[in-house]
Amino acid sequence: MGFPIRVCVVCQEEFELRPDKPGFANRCPACSEPEETGSTGGRAMDETERRSESEMNAERRKAIRNLLYRKDS
Ligand SMILES: [Zn+2]
Repeated sequence: MGFPIRVCVVCQEEFELRPDKPGFANRCPACSEPEETGSTGGRAMDETERRSESEMNAERRKAIRNLLYRKDS
């Protein structure tokens, strides 16, 4: 039995809104996590780096989701 699917306001990715999900209800788990990179003494990512990384994450999530859904049905 599934959870309601929401679209993250930050990365526009769909995610399952689990009752025990920490953070905001309109953000996916990844975007609910506190940003650790760049804020605590590390170097800040520039715009291009950040974009390519979020694209990579989106692709990865999409692949994982496809995998899960395929297994599910
Ligand atoms: Zn997100």
